[in-house]
Amino acid sequence: MTVEQKVKELHHFINGELVAGKSGRFSNVYNPSTGEVIAQVPLAAKEEVKNAIEMAKKAFPEWRNTSSGKRAEIVMRFRQLVKENEEELIQVICTESGKTKEDAKGEITRGLESVDLAINAPHLLKGDYSVNVGGNINAYSTKSPIGVVAAISPFNFPVMVPFAQTSMAVAVGNAVILKPSEKVPMSALFFSELWKRAGLPDGIWTVINGDKEAVDELLANPTVQAISFVGSTPVAEYIYQTGTSYNKRVAAFGGGKNFMIVMPDADLEKTANAFIGAAYGAASQRCMAISGAMVVGKETADQLVAILKEMIENLKVGPYTDEEVDFGPVITQQSKDAVIGYINRSIEEGAKVVVDGRNPTICQTSKGFYLGPTLLDEITPSMEVFQQEVFGPARIVVRVESLQEAIDLINDHELGNGVTIFTKNGAAARKFQEEIEVGMVGVNVPIPIPVGYYNFGGWKRSKFGEGFMFGPDQARFFTKSKTISEKWLNGDDETSTTFAFPSNSTK
Ligand code: NAD
Repeated sequence: MTVEQKVKELHHFINGELVAGKSGRFSNVYNPSTGEVIAQVPLAAKEEVKNAIEMAKKAFPEWRNTSSGKRAEIVMRFRQLVKENEEELIQVICTESGKTKEDAKGEITRGLESVDLAINAPHLLKGDYSVNVGGNINAYSTKSPIGVVAAISPFNFPVMVPFAQTSMAVAVGNAVILKPSEKVPMSALFFSELWKRAGLPDGIWTVINGDKEAVDELLANPTVQAISFVGSTPVAEYIYQTGTSYNKRVAAFGGGKNFMIVMPDADLEKTANAFIGAAYGAASQRCMAISGAMVVGKETADQLVAILKEMIENLKVGPYTDEEVDFGPVITQQSKDAVIGYINRSIEEGAKVVVDGRNPTICQTSKGFYLGPTLLDEITPSMEVFQQEVFGPARIVVRVESLQEAIDLINDHELGNGVTIFTKNGAAARKFQEEIEVGMVGVNVPIPIPVGYYNFGGWKRSKFGEGFMFGPDQARFFTKSKTISEKWLNGDDETSTTFAFPSNSTK
C-alpha cells in the first residue's frame, strides 16, 4: 500500500529515536468517530524486528547494572511526565480509539497504578537470606532481570494495558520491546517520548509496529526471554503455544465472557445502573465488560429487563468531542459488522430483541463506526452469542431458576475472566465466591478489575500461562531467581576432600 499524501506516516521507536519503516507495508489507522484514515502505521519486516532486538540486547547490561533506586527514580519521572502531558495523551487515545475523554482519563489513571507499583520495584526485588545453613555457609536468593522481553498489546486500552505489561519489566531492569496494536499505535509512540525524557537509556524502551510477521519474530528470536501478550483468546493461545515451544516464559491474556448474576433480593434500580455502565461503557470493548445479566427467577428477570430497556433507550452514542455521550464507536467497520453478525444470528436462533442498536441515528450523519446499545433476552447456553465474546455493545439476558444453575453455567463456560453477583444475601455471595471458577470476582461491584497491587488474570481460556499483570507476581514474571550458597574460608577450616553428598548438618 502506498502512503497517501496528507496522511501522517508513523514510525517505530528504536534506540531512543523515531525510525521510519523499511518494509514498504503499512496499515491504516482510523479515527473511529469519523471513519477517516488519520495515519499509516508501518508493519515491520522480520529484519527490522531483529535489528530492534539487537539494539535492546546491547543496551541491557548497563540498565541491569544500574541501581534499583536509580531505575525507580526514572520510572517516577516517567509517571510525572505522563501526568504533566495527560491532556494531550487523552486527545491521542480518543482520536485513535474513539473512547470518551472521561474513559481515556480513567484508563490513564488505572494504568498509572501499574507504574506506581513499578516505582516500588526495589522492595519487590528483595531476596531471602539465611545465616549458617551449615558449615558457616550463608544462603541467599536474588532476583535478576531476564534480558530482552516483549509485550504485545490489544487495541482496547492503548495506554492502560501497555503500562500494565511493561512498567514493572522496565523497573526490574529489563530491556522492553512493545508491539502495540496496529489499530492504535499513536499512544505508544507518544509515551515513548516520555520514557526518553524521563532519562531511560536508549535501547531499553522500543516500540516496534507491525502485525503477525513482527510478532512471529518476537516469538522465535532467541534473544527475547519473555512475552507478555494481551488480546483475543485464539491469538493468546497461539502466542502461548509458540512462545513456550521456543522455551520462553509466556503470559497470554485472552478474552472474557463476564456475567452479572442478579439474585431476586437485589436492589434492581441500583443493579440496573451498575449493569448499564459496566456493560456498555467504552462500547463494551473491555475484556472485563459485563457481557450479560444472568437473572435468577422469572419475576426478577421481567422487572430488570423493563428497567434496563428504559435506561438503554436513553443512552447517547456519539463522538468523544461531544461531552454528553455515554460511549463512542467501535474500533473499525469490520468490528461493527462482526457485532451486527452476532445479533442477526442470535435472532435466527430465537433471541428476543429488547433494544436494537444495529442502526443508531448518528449513522445518518456520520461515517464513524457507531453501534447503538442492543439488549437480547431469552438467551440460552447453546446460542453462539452466549458462547462467544462479543466485542461491541450487544449484551444478553440469560434467565435461570437458581443460583446453582447460574454458577454451573458460568463454570461450564470456556472463558473465565470476570464475574459478579448482585445480592443482599451474604450466604449466597459466599457460596458464589467460593464455587465460581473465574479469576476476578465481584460482589455488588460492577467491574471487578483488581487494583494495581493485586494480581490480574482470568481462569480457563481467558489466560494461558502462570504469569500475571499488575501485582507482585509481575515482578516475579520479569525476573529470574538465583540461590547462592556462600562461605568465606579462614585458616582453621577443614580442607580434606569429601566424596559424600554435602549435608547441611556439618558443624
Ligand atoms: P487481537 O488478538 O486481535 O490482537 C492483539 C495483538 O495481537 C495485536 O497487537 C495484534 O497485532 C496481534 N495479533 C493479531 N493477530 C495475530 C496473529 N494471528 N498472530 C500474531 N499476532 C497477532 O485482539 P484485539 O482485537 O486487539 O483486542 C481485543 C481482545 O483483547 C478482546 O478479546 C479482549 O477481551 C482482549 N483483551 C483481554 C484483556 C485481558 O486482560 N484478558 C485485556 C484487554 C483486551
